[in-house]
Amino acid sequence: MSTAERSAVQVPLLDLRAQYNSIRAEIDEAVARVIESQYFILGPEVSALEEEIADYSQVQHAIGMSSGTDALLAALMALDIGPGDEVVTTTYSFFATAGVIARLGATPVFVDIDPVTYNIDPSAAAGAVTAHTKAIMPVHLYGRIADMDPILAAARERGIPVIEDAAQAIGAFDGQHRKAGSIGDMGCFSFFPSKNLGGFGDGGMTVTSDPDLDHRLKLLRMHGSEPKYYHSIVGGNFRLDALQAAVLRVKLKHLDDWTAARRRNADRYRELIADARLTDRVTVPQDEPGHIYNQFVIRVQERDALREHLKARNIGTEVYYPVPLHMQECFASLGYGEGDLPHAEAAARETLALPIYPELTDAQLVHVVGSIREFQESR
Ligand SMILES: *Cc1c(COP(=O)(O)O)cnc(C)c1O
Repeated sequence: MSTAERSAVQVPLLDLRAQYNSIRAEIDEAVARVIESQYFILGPEVSALEEEIADYSQVQHAIGMSSGTDALLAALMALDIGPGDEVVTTTYSFFATAGVIARLGATPVFVDIDPVTYNIDPSAAAGAVTAHTKAIMPVHLYGRIADMDPILAAARERGIPVIEDAAQAIGAFDGQHRKAGSIGDMGCFSFFPSKNLGGFGDGGMTVTSDPDLDHRLKLLRMHGSEPKYYHSIVGGNFRLDALQAAVLRVKLKHLDDWTAARRRNADRYRELIADARLTDRVTVPQDEPGHIYNQFVIRVQERDALREHLKARNIGTEVYYPVPLHMQECFASLGYGEGDLPHAEAAARETLALPIYPELTDAQLVHVVGSIREFQESR
């Protein structure tokens, strides 16, 4: 393609309309069914989704929640985590991972990442465990499972539970074919529209194979009430809507096909980047069979300038995340400083997410890599 031909190509970071168009009849039918039933909160659609997600994720129980954030919050509440407690987690994640810990009055203990996978460094996590640690919370960032065995070993040694923040990783699996959410004691999914399984609004789910945790999570999402109007514990309103469940049930049937398309796009990016002889300047994510590519994140020098260049060529990108959690203003009182967690700080300067959504065409992928090459040639 010539530069002129390419300049007509638009590549948004995500194109949810293309996805909707491909399943419009099924979605419209499901939404109409809920409206007809006038049953809007929990109920049969939510129960059916819970069963389907439990089955899909290889767990015994799934509890629909109002968001991924609330799924994490309820998981911590189910463990009675509060003031004086510490939760060990990665510094390189979406804010919610740490926000839920702080909101309960507990202390997030941030550790650095593996610079290749961007996931929590398991030996750093093990080293951060103290007598006050009440949970370890790895994140399967970008849709790739964190290195779980050493984390599970460190946790078991001290009798500490492991909560997987699997908000970006539904359907991902590791080398032993363990699905995201099934590896630790609880797993938390988000159905935010930009996740691989996204609703038409906020939604989330906590999964577990422990019947006691299942019971506590179901109580917590209904203000701790059982029976109705009798409260043994303080919970919240963390309920999932039936409309979201109905939409998600339609999309769940397509999820593996969409994941396969994301994986094909990732392979194609790697091939195009190698063909353009960019591999010494553009670090691409290593593949793993269970990686679901919620994001395809490259690493480059002059990241912000490249981002501007791509924007001028109608290519959407994003930085996940520009500020590691230990450097966030709201956590200043925890006393971390620049240089404390250097791999995450470098990633925050150098990583860039490229469009990876399933409906991308080859012309779009070619345009993205052609534009990256153009930028590199101009330096
Ligand atoms: C999206 C996300 C969340 C929060 O999910 P919401 O549904 O937006 O509340 C938590 N953790 C990670 C890693 C996420 O990507």
